[in-house]
Amino acid sequence: MATTEEKSIIVKTTAEIEIMRQANQIVSGVLKMLAENMSPGLSTMQLDKWAGEYCQDHGALPAFLGYRGFPGNLCVSVNEEVVHGIASKKRRLREGDIISVDFGVRYQGFYGDAAITIPVGAVSTKKKQLLDVTQQALELGIQQVKIGNRITDISRAVQQHVEKHGYSVVREFVGHGIGSNLHEGPEVPNYVQGDKSSPRIVEGMVLAIEPMVNAGTHKVKVLKDGWTVVTADRQPSAHFEHSIAATAAGPLVLSRREGEKVPFLA
Ligand code: MG
Repeated sequence: MATTEEKSIIVKTTAEIEIMRQANQIVSGVLKMLAENMSPGLSTMQLDKWAGEYCQDHGALPAFLGYRGFPGNLCVSVNEEVVHGIASKKRRLREGDIISVDFGVRYQGFYGDAAITIPVGAVSTKKKQLLDVTQQALELGIQQVKIGNRITDISRAVQQHVEKHGYSVVREFVGHGIGSNLHEGPEVPNYVQGDKSSPRIVEGMVLAIEPMVNAGTHKVKVLKDGWTVVTADRQPSAHFEHSIAATAAGPLVLSRREGEKVPFLA
Protein backbone atom coordinates (compact mmCIF):
# COMPACT_ATOMS: atom_id res chain seq x y z
CA MET A 1 0.00 0.00 0.00
CA ALA A 2 1.02 3.57 -0.49
CA THR A 3 0.09 6.63 1.49
CA THR A 4 1.16 10.24 1.72
CA GLU A 5 0.77 10.81 5.45
CA GLU A 6 3.70 12.27 7.41
CA LYS A 7 5.09 9.82 9.96
CA SER A 8 8.32 9.76 11.94
CA ILE A 9 11.38 7.77 10.88
CA ILE A 10 12.26 4.78 13.10
CA VAL A 11 15.56 2.94 12.50
CA LYS A 12 15.72 -0.81 13.10
CA THR A 13 18.21 -3.09 14.85
CA THR A 14 19.81 -6.02 13.03
CA ALA A 15 17.50 -8.39 14.95
CA GLU A 16 14.43 -6.40 13.90
CA ILE A 17 15.58 -6.38 10.30
CA GLU A 18 15.86 -10.18 10.44
CA ILE A 19 12.22 -10.45 11.60
CA MET A 20 11.25 -8.06 8.81
CA ARG A 21 13.12 -10.27 6.34
CA GLN A 22 11.04 -13.23 7.48
CA ALA A 23 7.84 -11.18 7.17
CA ASN A 24 8.79 -10.09 3.67
CA GLN A 25 9.67 -13.65 2.64
CA ILE A 26 6.07 -14.60 3.43
CA VAL A 27 4.91 -11.68 1.28
CA SER A 28 7.12 -12.65 -1.64
CA GLY A 29 6.04 -16.29 -1.20
CA VAL A 30 2.45 -15.15 -1.77
CA LEU A 31 3.40 -13.07 -4.82
CA LYS A 32 5.34 -15.98 -6.33
CA MET A 33 2.46 -18.38 -5.71
CA LEU A 34 0.01 -15.96 -7.36
CA ALA A 35 2.30 -15.40 -10.36
CA GLU A 36 2.64 -19.16 -10.85
CA ASN A 37 -1.11 -19.71 -10.70
CA MET A 38 -2.27 -16.68 -12.69
CA SER A 39 -4.50 -17.78 -15.57
CA PRO A 40 -7.45 -16.56 -17.63
CA GLY A 41 -10.85 -17.26 -16.08
CA LEU A 42 -9.78 -16.90 -12.44
CA SER A 43 -11.68 -14.37 -10.36
CA THR A 44 -9.68 -11.73 -8.49
CA MET A 45 -11.44 -13.03 -5.35
CA GLN A 46 -9.73 -16.40 -5.85
CA LEU A 47 -6.33 -14.65 -5.69
CA ASP A 48 -7.41 -12.89 -2.51
CA LYS A 49 -8.48 -16.22 -0.95
CA TRP A 50 -5.20 -17.94 -1.81
CA ALA A 51 -3.25 -15.06 -0.27
CA GLY A 52 -5.24 -15.35 2.96
CA GLU A 53 -4.71 -19.13 3.14
CA TYR A 54 -0.95 -18.78 2.53
CA CYS A 55 -0.75 -16.27 5.39
CA GLN A 56 -2.59 -18.58 7.74
CA ASP A 57 -0.28 -21.48 6.81
CA HIS A 58 2.77 -19.32 7.56
CA GLY A 59 1.69 -17.75 10.86
CA ALA A 60 1.22 -14.24 9.49
CA LEU A 61 -1.72 -11.83 9.36
CA PRO A 62 -2.74 -10.08 6.12
CA ALA A 63 -1.83 -6.46 6.85
CA PHE A 64 -4.18 -4.64 4.49
CA LEU A 65 -7.40 -6.35 5.66
CA GLY A 66 -9.21 -3.74 7.76
CA TYR A 67 -6.51 -1.09 7.24
CA ARG A 68 -8.60 2.12 7.26
CA GLY A 69 -11.48 -0.21 6.41
CA PHE A 70 -9.90 -1.89 3.35
CA PRO A 71 -12.08 -4.95 2.67
CA GLY A 72 -9.59 -7.45 1.15
CA ASN A 73 -6.47 -9.46 1.93
CA LEU A 74 -4.65 -7.99 -1.03
CA CYS A 75 -4.85 -5.08 -3.42
CA VAL A 76 -5.52 -6.43 -6.91
CA SER A 77 -5.55 -3.85 -9.69
CA VAL A 78 -6.28 -4.80 -13.31
CA ASN A 79 -4.97 -2.92 -16.40
CA GLU A 80 -5.89 0.78 -15.98
CA GLU A 81 -6.32 0.28 -12.23
CA VAL A 82 -3.18 1.68 -10.56
CA VAL A 83 -3.38 0.54 -6.93
CA HIS A 84 -5.82 -0.39 -4.13
CA GLY A 85 -8.19 -2.46 -6.31
CA ILE A 86 -10.59 -4.68 -4.36
CA ALA A 87 -10.99 -8.38 -5.15
CA SER A 88 -14.35 -9.43 -6.59
CA LYS A 89 -16.04 -12.73 -7.42
CA LYS A 90 -17.34 -11.14 -10.62
CA ARG A 91 -14.06 -9.82 -11.97
CA ARG A 92 -12.51 -12.57 -14.13
CA LEU A 93 -9.00 -12.38 -15.52
CA ARG A 94 -8.63 -12.38 -19.28
CA GLU A 95 -5.72 -13.25 -21.51
CA GLY A 96 -3.77 -10.05 -22.14
CA ASP A 97 -4.60 -8.41 -18.79
CA ILE A 98 -1.90 -7.16 -16.44
CA ILE A 99 -2.63 -7.66 -12.75
CA SER A 100 -0.92 -5.55 -10.10
CA VAL A 101 -0.88 -7.43 -6.83
CA ASP A 102 0.19 -5.58 -3.69
CA PHE A 103 0.40 -7.61 -0.50
CA GLY A 104 1.47 -7.03 3.08
CA VAL A 105 1.69 -9.10 6.25
CA ARG A 106 2.11 -8.54 9.96
CA TYR A 107 4.48 -11.11 11.46
CA GLN A 108 5.96 -11.12 14.98
CA GLY A 109 5.17 -7.45 15.44
CA PHE A 110 6.58 -6.26 12.12
CA TYR A 111 5.30 -5.63 8.62
CA GLY A 112 6.34 -6.79 5.18
CA ASP A 113 5.10 -5.13 1.97
CA ALA A 114 5.79 -5.87 -1.70
CA ALA A 115 4.05 -5.78 -5.07
CA ILE A 116 4.40 -7.17 -8.58
CA THR A 117 2.47 -6.78 -11.81
CA ILE A 118 1.74 -10.11 -13.46
CA PRO A 119 0.83 -10.65 -17.12
CA VAL A 120 -2.08 -13.02 -17.81
CA GLY A 121 -0.95 -15.23 -20.67
CA ALA A 122 0.39 -13.33 -23.66
CA VAL A 123 0.17 -9.53 -23.29
CA SER A 124 0.75 -6.74 -25.83
CA THR A 125 4.29 -5.52 -26.48
CA LYS A 126 3.26 -2.16 -25.02
CA LYS A 127 2.13 -3.72 -21.73
CA LYS A 128 5.21 -5.95 -21.56
CA GLN A 129 7.47 -2.91 -21.94
CA LEU A 130 5.52 -1.03 -19.27
CA LEU A 131 6.14 -3.91 -16.83
CA ASP A 132 9.84 -4.08 -17.73
CA VAL A 133 10.41 -0.34 -17.34
CA THR A 134 8.59 -0.24 -13.99
CA GLN A 135 10.56 -3.18 -12.63
CA GLN A 136 13.82 -1.66 -13.89
CA ALA A 137 12.91 1.68 -12.25
CA LEU A 138 12.38 -0.13 -8.94
CA GLU A 139 15.80 -1.81 -9.21
CA LEU A 140 17.49 1.51 -10.06
CA GLY A 141 15.79 3.09 -7.03
CA ILE A 142 16.98 0.21 -4.82
CA GLN A 143 20.58 0.85 -5.93
CA GLN A 144 20.32 4.33 -4.39
CA VAL A 145 19.57 2.94 -0.90
CA LYS A 146 23.05 3.84 0.31
CA ILE A 147 23.97 5.36 3.64
CA GLY A 148 24.59 9.08 3.12
CA ASN A 149 22.35 9.35 0.06
CA ARG A 150 19.06 11.19 0.33
CA ILE A 151 15.57 9.84 -0.35
CA THR A 152 15.42 12.14 -3.36
CA ASP A 153 18.26 10.11 -4.96
CA ILE A 154 15.83 7.17 -5.06
CA SER A 155 13.06 9.38 -6.45
CA ARG A 156 15.31 10.78 -9.17
CA ALA A 157 16.57 7.36 -10.31
CA VAL A 158 12.99 6.06 -10.63
CA GLN A 159 11.59 9.13 -12.36
CA GLN A 160 14.43 9.53 -14.86
CA HIS A 161 14.22 5.92 -16.01
CA VAL A 162 10.43 6.01 -16.36
CA GLU A 163 10.30 9.33 -18.22
CA LYS A 164 13.18 8.34 -20.51
CA HIS A 165 10.82 5.67 -21.84
CA GLY A 166 7.92 8.09 -22.31
CA TYR A 167 5.90 6.88 -19.30
CA SER A 168 4.85 8.80 -16.21
CA VAL A 169 5.06 8.29 -12.44
CA VAL A 170 2.05 8.69 -10.17
CA ARG A 171 2.34 11.63 -7.74
CA GLU A 172 -0.56 11.07 -5.36
CA PHE A 173 0.77 7.83 -3.88
CA VAL A 174 4.29 7.23 -2.65
CA GLY A 175 6.55 4.64 -1.02
CA HIS A 176 7.22 4.79 2.69
CA GLY A 177 9.21 3.67 5.69
CA ILE A 178 8.01 0.38 7.18
CA GLY A 179 8.58 -1.43 10.48
CA SER A 180 6.26 -2.10 13.42
CA ASN A 181 3.87 0.15 11.47
CA LEU A 182 2.77 -0.53 7.89
CA HIS A 183 3.49 3.09 7.01
CA GLU A 184 6.25 5.06 8.73
CA GLY A 185 8.42 7.96 7.68
CA PRO A 186 10.01 8.88 5.43
CA GLU A 187 7.82 9.25 2.37
CA VAL A 188 9.53 7.81 -0.72
CA PRO A 189 8.09 9.65 -3.74
CA ASN A 190 8.70 8.35 -7.25
CA TYR A 191 9.39 11.85 -8.52
CA VAL A 192 11.66 14.69 -7.41
CA GLN A 193 9.76 17.21 -5.31
CA GLY A 194 11.51 20.44 -6.28
CA ASP A 195 12.87 22.29 -3.28
CA LYS A 196 11.31 20.05 -0.61
CA SER A 197 14.07 18.87 1.76
CA SER A 198 14.68 15.14 1.68
CA PRO A 199 15.90 12.97 4.59
CA ARG A 200 19.33 11.32 4.59
CA ILE A 201 19.40 7.54 4.37
CA VAL A 202 20.88 6.11 7.57
CA GLU A 203 21.82 2.57 8.63
CA GLY A 204 18.80 0.61 9.84
CA MET A 205 16.24 2.56 7.81
CA VAL A 206 13.77 0.20 6.09
CA LEU A 207 12.00 1.56 3.02
CA ALA A 208 9.19 0.30 0.81
CA ILE A 209 10.00 1.63 -2.66
CA GLU A 210 7.02 1.27 -5.00
CA PRO A 211 6.95 2.94 -8.40
CA MET A 212 3.47 3.19 -9.90
CA VAL A 213 4.02 3.84 -13.59
CA ASN A 214 1.37 4.90 -16.12
CA ALA A 215 1.59 4.37 -19.87
CA GLY A 216 -0.07 7.77 -20.44
CA THR A 217 -0.80 10.68 -18.12
CA HIS A 218 0.43 10.61 -14.52
CA LYS A 219 -3.00 11.77 -13.42
CA VAL A 220 -5.21 9.36 -11.51
CA LYS A 221 -8.65 9.29 -9.97
CA VAL A 222 -10.36 7.24 -7.28
CA LEU A 223 -13.45 5.21 -8.23
CA LYS A 224 -16.75 5.41 -6.33
CA ASP A 225 -15.80 2.44 -4.14
CA GLY A 226 -13.49 4.89 -2.35
CA TRP A 227 -10.41 2.72 -2.93
CA THR A 228 -9.67 1.74 -6.53
CA VAL A 229 -7.25 4.20 -8.14
CA VAL A 230 -7.40 4.32 -11.96
CA THR A 231 -5.45 6.28 -14.56
CA ALA A 232 -7.33 9.42 -15.65
CA ASP A 233 -6.93 8.41 -19.34
CA ARG A 234 -7.65 4.70 -18.65
CA GLN A 235 -4.34 3.64 -20.17
CA PRO A 236 -2.60 0.76 -18.37
CA SER A 237 -0.51 1.13 -15.23
CA ALA A 238 2.09 -1.08 -13.51
CA HIS A 239 3.29 -1.33 -9.90
CA PHE A 240 6.33 -3.07 -8.42
CA GLU A 241 7.45 -2.81 -4.79
CA HIS A 242 10.16 -4.15 -2.52
CA SER A 243 10.97 -3.55 1.15
CA ILE A 244 14.66 -2.73 1.55
CA ALA A 245 16.92 -2.24 4.59
CA ALA A 246 19.79 0.26 4.41
CA THR A 247 22.87 -1.54 5.73
CA ALA A 248 26.58 -0.71 5.85
CA ALA A 249 27.04 -3.38 3.16
CA GLY A 250 24.45 -1.72 0.88
CA PRO A 251 20.76 -2.27 0.16
CA LEU A 252 19.33 -5.51 1.59
CA VAL A 253 16.16 -6.38 -0.31
CA LEU A 254 14.09 -8.12 2.36
CA SER A 255 11.34 -9.17 -0.04
CA ARG A 256 13.68 -10.69 -2.66
CA ARG A 257 13.34 -14.49 -2.76
CA GLU A 258 16.51 -16.40 -2.03
CA GLY A 259 18.26 -17.28 -5.27
CA GLU A 260 15.99 -14.92 -7.25
CA LYS A 261 17.82 -13.24 -10.08
CA VAL A 262 17.95 -9.44 -10.00
CA PRO A 263 15.95 -8.55 -13.11
CA PHE A 264 17.70 -6.80 -16.02
CA LEU A 265 20.61 -5.47 -14.00
CA ALA A 266 22.79 -8.56 -13.63
MG1 MG B 1 3.69 -0.11 0.27
